[in-house]
Amino acid sequence: MSSFTNFLSKLRKTARAMAELACPSCGSKSPELLLRRDRYLLPIDVSGCKQCGLIYAASGLQGEPEAEFYRSIYSTLMGWPPDSQGHRQYREFAERRWSLIKQYGGTPESLLEIGAGFGDFLALARKEGVRLIYGLEPGNVQREYARREYQFSEEVLSPEPFTAETRVPFAPRVIVLFHVLEHLSQPGELLRNIARCIAPEGLLVLEVPDLRADWKELNLLQFHVGHRSYFTEATLTNLLRSSGLRVEHIQKEPDGIYHGNLRVFARPATDDGVRIPVDLHADLRYMRGQLQPASLRNGYPRAFIRLLRFALQ
Ligand SMILES: [Zn+2]
Repeated sequence: MSSFTNFLSKLRKTARAMAELACPSCGSKSPELLLRRDRYLLPIDVSGCKQCGLIYAASGLQGEPEAEFYRSIYSTLMGWPPDSQGHRQYREFAERRWSLIKQYGGTPESLLEIGAGFGDFLALARKEGVRLIYGLEPGNVQREYARREYQFSEEVLSPEPFTAETRVPFAPRVIVLFHVLEHLSQPGELLRNIARCIAPEGLLVLEVPDLRADWKELNLLQFHVGHRSYFTEATLTNLLRSSGLRVEHIQKEPDGIYHGNLRVFARPATDDGVRIPVDLHADLRYMRGQLQPASLRNGYPRAFIRLLRFALQ
C-alpha cells in the first residue's frame, strides 16, 4: 500500500508543478483549448496556437520539476525497462527504418542519432557498414541497456542531450531523430543546430506522430505530458523551413511503428520564407473527430484503471 500512496503523491506533486507553457514553435501564449487532461489525468491543456497554428501542450513541466519527473516516475509510466518482446519490437522498428533510409539515400558514410534510445538503430547501422556512428541518449535506463547489449563506449553513445554546445566528432551525412522532436520545449533550436552541424547536402530523417492520421485506436493514449508538440505535415514542414531545413520527401505510415507515423526526409537549405498555410480550426475539428474521451476501451475510464495498475506495481 505504501508504494501505492507514494506513486499517487508523486503524480499529485507533478500536477501541482505544472505551469503555463508557450507555443514550442513561435513562442506565443495564445492557446485555444482542445483537451484538458492527458492519459495520466495530468492537466496538460492540449491547445491550438492562434498565432502559428501548431497544436501543443499549453501546460506542463519545466526546469527542476521536469527533471524530477523524468528521474522519479517516467520509467514506471512508460513500463520500462521493456520485456524481451518489447526489445524485439524495437529491433524490428530499426530494421524497417534502416531499409527505408537505405532505399532513399543508400548507405551513408557517417550517421548521428539524437535520442538513440536502447541503441538498436545505431547497432544496425554499424552492422550494415556505416563507418562513423555517434549517438546521444540522456536516459540512463536506455543507455545502460545499449552499452550492455551492443558494447557501445561513451565515445559512441554519449549521455549528453543535443544542445547548442554539443560537439559531434564529425559532420554527419545522415542525422536521424525518431520520436524526439515532439518532446522538446524548443524544437526549432534543435533543428537549427542540426542544420549547422550536418554535412553539406546531408540528410535529416525524422519521425513524429502524425496528427492528421487515423489515430482513433490510440485515442487518449496519443496525449501525454512528455509531448509538447502535436505536428501535422504542414506545421512540421514550416518549422523545418524556418530552421534552415527543406523537406524533400514525406512518408506516412498508418501503423506499425506508430498509429499514424510521419517520416520526413530533409536537407539543409536557406529559408526562402515560403510557408504552407495552416488551418488551425480544421485541425482542431479533425482532432475532435478522432477523440472519444468517454470510451471504455481507450478513453478516461481506461486511463484511470491503467494508473491504478501502475500504482499497485
Ligand atoms: Zn505558435
